[in-house]
Amino acid sequence: MIDTHAHLDACGGDPGELLARARAARVVRVVTIGTGIDSCRRALELADTYDGVSAALGIDPHRAASAEAGRVDELHDLLAHPRVVAVGETGLDGYHGAETLGEQRALLDAQLALADDLGLPVVIHSRAASGQTARALAPFRGTVVLHCFSEPELLEAALERGYYASFAGNVTYPNAGALRDAAARIPADRILAETDSPYLAPQPVRGRPNEPANVVHTLAALAAARGETIEELEARIDENATRAFGLDRP
Ligand SMILES: [Zn+2]
Repeated sequence: MIDTHAHLDACGGDPGELLARARAARVVRVVTIGTGIDSCRRALELADTYDGVSAALGIDPHRAASAEAGRVDELHDLLAHPRVVAVGETGLDGYHGAETLGEQRALLDAQLALADDLGLPVVIHSRAASGQTARALAPFRGTVVLHCFSEPELLEAALERGYYASFAGNVTYPNAGALRDAAARIPADRILAETDSPYLAPQPVRGRPNEPANVVHTLAALAAARGETIEELEARIDENATRAFGLDRP
């Protein structure tokens, strides 16, 4: 099993222990996500240190109005590292940053250009911005992973354009029926699962810091929503993640 989106640099404690608990739960691959230049450097250190860990590097939308947004050239240099598998996370957040959506869009466009140049997939954060996200992504021809898929309004664009949809712990919450319905409509070759650790712990461990081992709870909820066995869906997600990110097999 793979956790396609974790912020290992933001999880407390010893990353070695956290990854050992993941392996004990059969989660043997993790994509760790950088959210700013320092976080990206840390993600690369973790990917260099631990087996099964690769890195996606980006400057997230919450930093779009800060000095960090001027560091895209540094990001470009870091993306040359051999453990890098994607650009991101990047995207638009109208919930936490409605007043900076202009700056967020500029930063997203700059990272889409990097992904295009380097032939890397992009990992997209979209919250309360589905229409704007769909418009921003329209010209991008590469692989798109919609991380923490939480906007059923993005489903049509995702289906039409062949985007990957990665579901996080919030798909397990009792009130997430609309999200589970969306998960049931994602094609078998486009579905992914993630934790977004240390955030969004799934229902059975809700309220605690999240960690990659918990992706199994999200997998179980997705399998139930789709009417598939856990084993079937686990194998599909492993295949999909390998293809989307160009990963080594475990
Ligand atoms: Zn994230």
